[in-house]
Amino acid sequence: MAASKTAQLRRIEKDVEELVESPLYRLRKKEGYHAVVGKGDPDARIMFIGEAPGKQEALRGGPFVGAAGHLLDAMLKSVGLQRDQVYITNIIKDRPPENRDPQREEIKLYAPFLRRQIKAIQPAIIVTLGRFAMDFILSEFDMPEKGRSITELHGKPLQASAAYGPITVVPLFHPAVAFYRRDQKETLSSDFLILKKLTKAG
Ligand code: URA
Repeated sequence: MAASKTAQLRRIEKDVEELVESPLYRLRKKEGYHAVVGKGDPDARIMFIGEAPGKQEALRGGPFVGAAGHLLDAMLKSVGLQRDQVYITNIIKDRPPENRDPQREEIKLYAPFLRRQIKAIQPAIIVTLGRFAMDFILSEFDMPEKGRSITELHGKPLQASAAYGPITVVPLFHPAVAFYRRDQKETLSSDFLILKKLTKAG
């Protein structure tokens, strides 16, 4: 019998914690950071995927607990959702130094953990936050939109086929960007409304 979702997620957490071959592991230990693997309902219908933990996240060991997280919470609330009803994770599970963009090799190294999380949770809806998560998912599910920009695709529900069944992918701008740019915040708020429709439909 397959291990329960909770047991699978625990195993993934342990494996990330022990990822000594990651260059980011050394920074984690040196700075007293935590790995940030993911948090939320193992039975969630919606999974949010961000980029990588920032300093607050690495210090506290949970995804989106800093400024971008507050904005994410407000957006979730605006569509009648709470954090404990969804699952939130990132592509990269350790903080990159100085919040720089994730590198190709890092994405490759951490991707198997995200794949295992998707396989365990089997979300019907995957919401990508920012272009790194969007590009990863478009390519992961070999979607026809692969290679298109987030400016073109944000807020559009896209259909994909996961091993466990059909899924909807919703690319959104990253809340950290929206935090500093008023126009993007408005776009993010209106894009979020699609989630209200999708969750009602399910
Ligand atoms: N930005 C992300 O992409 N993920 C986090 O967890 C926090 C900030």
